[in-house]
Amino acid sequence: MDIAHLTQLNGRHMLHPMVDPKITQQSSPLILEKADGVYVWDVNGTRYLDTVASLWNVNVGHNPPAIKQAITEQLDKLAYWSTFQNTTNPPAIELSARLMEMFAPEGMAKVLFSSGGSDAIETALKIARQYWQLEGQAQKTKFISLKWGYHGVHFGGASINGNPLFRSAYEPLLPGCFQVESPYLYRNPWHESDPAELARLCAEELDRTIQYQGPHTVAALVAEPVQGAGGVIVPHASYWPMLRRICDKHGVLLISDEVVTGFGRIGAMCGARHWQVAPDIMALAKGINSGYVPLGATLLSGKVAGAFEHPDRSAPLMHGYTYSGHALACAAANANLDIVQTLDLPNQAATVGAYLNEQLLTLDRYPHVGDIRGLGMMAAIELVRDRQSKAPLAAPDTYVSTLVAQARAAGALIRVQGNRVILSPPLVFTKAHVDQAMSALHHAFAAAEALE
Ligand code: PMP
Repeated sequence: MDIAHLTQLNGRHMLHPMVDPKITQQSSPLILEKADGVYVWDVNGTRYLDTVASLWNVNVGHNPPAIKQAITEQLDKLAYWSTFQNTTNPPAIELSARLMEMFAPEGMAKVLFSSGGSDAIETALKIARQYWQLEGQAQKTKFISLKWGYHGVHFGGASINGNPLFRSAYEPLLPGCFQVESPYLYRNPWHESDPAELARLCAEELDRTIQYQGPHTVAALVAEPVQGAGGVIVPHASYWPMLRRICDKHGVLLISDEVVTGFGRIGAMCGARHWQVAPDIMALAKGINSGYVPLGATLLSGKVAGAFEHPDRSAPLMHGYTYSGHALACAAANANLDIVQTLDLPNQAATVGAYLNEQLLTLDRYPHVGDIRGLGMMAAIELVRDRQSKAPLAAPDTYVSTLVAQARAAGALIRVQGNRVILSPPLVFTKAHVDQAMSALHHAFAAAEALE
């Protein structure tokens, strides 16, 4: 099929996530055809550097032979059979044991598989409620989360989402969900510029909110170790330990949404480990198999799993998906995690990520760059109309479209979300790849500034 025809069909028939369909109809899509390592090619044969690991997920890079081989070998044996009613398959069993070993330091004991991040969060929320029922505290049903948090798009995840953009078109959502301030240094209601003090203020607000709601009504706090889609908001090191202490004080479960931070992105195997905190439940997806076959996983700590295994009561888990423990997805995950562990990608993300974040500071010379922040292989460049007012500079402003187009012209795919340029490269990025990304970014920013 020729490119013009593909473009026409895409505009006519396909809805794209998070896009106004009219924009899809009016603009030419970027039609990608192949990828290898940290590069991806469009249908015209143009090569781009992948600075975003597609959607924070292709952590081991594109086209790794070992993952393809694992998938095809599994395909030749058993592509799929459900894991309902105690039926199972070797890759799923192997993956469950492997995850427990990987996350033993966080005290994880059991896993329920699903098909992605939204599923993993939905599962976490339902498990939290059932846990409290089993513990004889059925009134504990409420969820608290952070402003700017992103937890996927299902009704539960949307209800705890910290950005009204993802909620307002789908209301009414789940009752009993409340958001507290996140430790967002660049914009916070206290105008606080000291990260430790801001962390303390945010933790105090959380503590007050739980007390106000009544600890006997709150099931869980849900948070990302570094807020990703909300704009790469990196908390002070004191923040997560404070979250843990407040949850413990009030008997509230701590759910760590590790969909982005899991498997190395911020320079540790998971975000909770980076902050040296053991959560009660962890939600994983994306980097679990670098996107080769959709997969999510919800991990339960020994404490939470224990409630379901109490010898004196029956506690069936009335939750799970047709594709829970999908053999191909789990086979891809096992091969992917071999790569993550063999290459020690969390360590590489720490080293190359530090270099990336240092290099990004050179973008400070452009007047519309308001803030530059990140940790490991996650970074955001926040665009403002001017540094004084900090008024967000977002699409459809031509500054933003020029930035994206010129980065592309310089050979790099970047993502702009609202007024933030988000960078989340594959964890196999080297310093040379960072240099390549930086030269494309400088080219793009210079071109966008020239318009002003
Ligand atoms: N949680 C977080 C922290 C995420 O970043 C995302 C997706 N970007 C999700 C949940 C939802 O994952 P999915 O899109 O796979 O449903």
